[in-house]
Amino acid sequence: METTVKRTKIKALLAMAPGAQVLVKGWVRTKRGNKQVKFIALNDGSTINNVQIVAEAEQFSEELLKNVTTGASLAVRGLLVPSIGSGQAVEIKAEEIEVLGECDPMRYPLQKKDTTMEYLRTIAHLRPRTNTFGAVLRIRHAMAFAIHKFFNDKGFVYLHTPLITESDAEGAGDMFQVTTLDLKNIPLDKKGNVDFSRDFFGKKTSLTVSGQLEGELGATAVGEIYTFGPTFRAENSNTPRHLAEFWMIEPEMAFYDIQDNMDLAEEFVKYLVQYALDNCMDDLQFLNSKYDEGLIDRLRSVLGIEFERVTYTRAVEILEAAVAGGHKFEFPVHWGTDFQSEHERYLVEKFFNKPVILTDFPKDIKAFYMKQNEDGRTVRGMDVLFPKIGEIIGGSEREASLEKLEQRISELGMSRKNLEWYIDTRRFGTVPHSGFGLGFERLLLFVTGMQNIRDVIPFPRTPKNAEF
Ligand code: ATP
Ligand code: MG
Repeated sequence: METTVKRTKIKALLAMAPGAQVLVKGWVRTKRGNKQVKFIALNDGSTINNVQIVAEAEQFSEELLKNVTTGASLAVRGLLVPSIGSGQAVEIKAEEIEVLGECDPMRYPLQKKDTTMEYLRTIAHLRPRTNTFGAVLRIRHAMAFAIHKFFNDKGFVYLHTPLITESDAEGAGDMFQVTTLDLKNIPLDKKGNVDFSRDFFGKKTSLTVSGQLEGELGATAVGEIYTFGPTFRAENSNTPRHLAEFWMIEPEMAFYDIQDNMDLAEEFVKYLVQYALDNCMDDLQFLNSKYDEGLIDRLRSVLGIEFERVTYTRAVEILEAAVAGGHKFEFPVHWGTDFQSEHERYLVEKFFNKPVILTDFPKDIKAFYMKQNEDGRTVRGMDVLFPKIGEIIGGSEREASLEKLEQRISELGMSRKNLEWYIDTRRFGTVPHSGFGLGFERLLLFVTGMQNIRDVIPFPRTPKNAEF
């Protein structure tokens, strides 16, 4: 299309006053009308809202209008005029239409009646073009931006921790091995074990399950850091809350104790929810009306209140009392067990009716680096539990004492070989410090109201599924 008019994105255009010559580009969502006039709903992804294009049939060739089908891409130049019927203040009276790319209605998968989430996952390469995934992707972006803004405004340093690592120290989950060895001809040493000295890095390496240990190196140097990157867990948990590849935000702060850590976590998630309400209302309203009538109320409900802070031991008492009172859980609960999501949700949704921060867990169900309490039985961990999701954040104050850390490492029979660099933080100028990990997709489940974690990441990786 030969024109001197510059392209306007639809989000900006819908806020403009009528009267201007405009140029828009996007994909056709629907076309309706009659012999005289066609109404085309065009979307360019800048907003959930479409702009209505009004095309007088006599001004355009029949051939051209025939090619304006759902999914086709167009450039449209015309006059921005007041609209009566489109649900928007303005629409475009088309003067020139160019079909940039045709779209065969018989073959376009998004024409199908079947638009269940399950079906859309099988066409994850095209589902971003639906209203739902457009909304999810824009909210995902807004949350990523808000995370950087939150920490940047506080003076935190964004630290890039490695994705390939030799440390499985945390034991947070099963790891994906990274190797260039020929799997058909694996080199063995004299004892018959795999000879990793012949592997790319000269040792056994995997994809990281957490950037925390390296995060602590950053925090004990520049004070306050955060990571924000992909994380990999080869856990065979086919749940609506687990991915094999997910994104995690892990702040780590020198001189923070567990109270400071909880305060930061609470401020952080409230900030993100507020940011979504302030900046993503069109998309939230769409999701609220289409899937989840309680969504916006639920988002607002976490803002005005203080999260309940309760020890693990107290939570066990509450759950045991519930069982004694006749409540049925699928999994048993007693002091020393790790909570299942049904237990977490009982605490959040039935008992306290607000987000809960659980603290002071039995040391045997938590990682080696958590600060040990005086009682010798519990550690200063904290899990933030949210309605409908369960655990959204896991964190702790870290054990700062060299002696106690070393003692815990040997108690657990862990190999120190790959850990000396980590232990150095306690050897040289150790400080109290704390941190936590927020699962980005868990946050997005809460903010979007989507039911399944596979629907808040563009291309989900789960057991037996790495398509696209
Ligand atoms: P869960 O008990 O739900 O498996 P976890 O105890 O393994 O969680 P952490 O190791 O504390 O989780 O990780 C920190 C955060 O990362 C969790 O609070 C959660 O938000 C997120 N997370 C953990 N595993 C996954 C996963 N497989 N997919 C998506 N997010 C995850
Ligand atoms: Mg886990």
